[in-house]
Amino acid sequence: MLIDIKSLTREDLKARFKAWDQPEYRVNQLLRWLYPRRVTAWDAMTDLPGPLRERLRQMYSLQTPELLRKQGSRDATQKFLWRLHDHSLVESVLIPANPALYGDASDRQTLCISTQVGCAYGCKFCASGLDGWKRNLTPDEIVEQVLAVERDVTSDKWQVTGKQIVPRAVDNLVVMGMGEPLANYENLLAALRILNAPWGGGIGARKITISTCGLAPQIRRLADEPEQFRLAISLHGATDAVRNRIMPVNRKYPLKELVAACEQYQAKKGRMLTFEYILIAGVNDSMEQTRPLAILAKKLFAKVNLIPCNQIVGLPWQRPADDVCEAFLAALERQNVAATLRREKGRDIDAACGQLRLKTEKQLLKA
Ligand code: SF4
Repeated sequence: MLIDIKSLTREDLKARFKAWDQPEYRVNQLLRWLYPRRVTAWDAMTDLPGPLRERLRQMYSLQTPELLRKQGSRDATQKFLWRLHDHSLVESVLIPANPALYGDASDRQTLCISTQVGCAYGCKFCASGLDGWKRNLTPDEIVEQVLAVERDVTSDKWQVTGKQIVPRAVDNLVVMGMGEPLANYENLLAALRILNAPWGGGIGARKITISTCGLAPQIRRLADEPEQFRLAISLHGATDAVRNRIMPVNRKYPLKELVAACEQYQAKKGRMLTFEYILIAGVNDSMEQTRPLAILAKKLFAKVNLIPCNQIVGLPWQRPADDVCEAFLAALERQNVAATLRREKGRDIDAACGQLRLKTEKQLLKA
């Protein structure tokens, strides 16, 4: 199978074009077609000579995922279900601008992307891990989720303005969809570098958040990378007892080890962390849990995002009552922790990670 051209960096392309005796400006022409213009066919690259286009076509693929389903919720959160070349399904979620989420308020949007088909980590509250891990996404499959969403949501503007460069739609990226991003480390970093590069996606590193369930060695490795990516920890429990119950990864990397890796990340990057904390009734939503959570958050200068759990078919967990969620938030605030409570985003669109994929796979099997 051919490598996709969107898995290559500008340096890779420069080397390839040099070997073909092509002038360097041709690389820039190609990149303009791939990223700002987001074209999906070699023939659309009209300022590249025909023989060069043919050579590229023979050497590389130029794939885009097929949009299988798109769901929009009342609050305008939109979920995209993509079918990849091998018929694997992955999800991306576009979330409207909201200062309570990642980054700052803006008139643009946050996109949550996937990095694996399925997931091997088996967190007990998550639909993505229910059928296990199937494969890692390649760099271009990660990059394409951004380009394909932008194509979709700006298609009307393209037609109305007729401009060659389509307006951007995504200015914050969270790597928090299906899969454990740091378990696909090389492909993730290759994709994020392309999305971050001025010649590529143009999304600032500080507007890219990588989320992990707690792979301590990879957090340490990330600390040594030059980019200033934000880090979010899918914590969901502030004691080993709670995390062991719902997150098998904690048996391999218990809290002490995770916290030490986060401290190293912070020492190197000087950046605030985010804790993701899914509130699950009767598991981690009691007032006693706010104390160890506050201690951890203050130790690591972390902001806490509270997310009431979404009901997932086949899983026993319940969403706590709204007043319990509000009381949990208030208790953290009383302990001087910066915290937010996600109230409604996506509640009506199978918003829990992996749910739309599972449901669609079952429907396709039946059909
Ligand atoms: S929460 Fe993340 S790491 Fe855990 S099973 Fe789901 S996708 Fe995997």
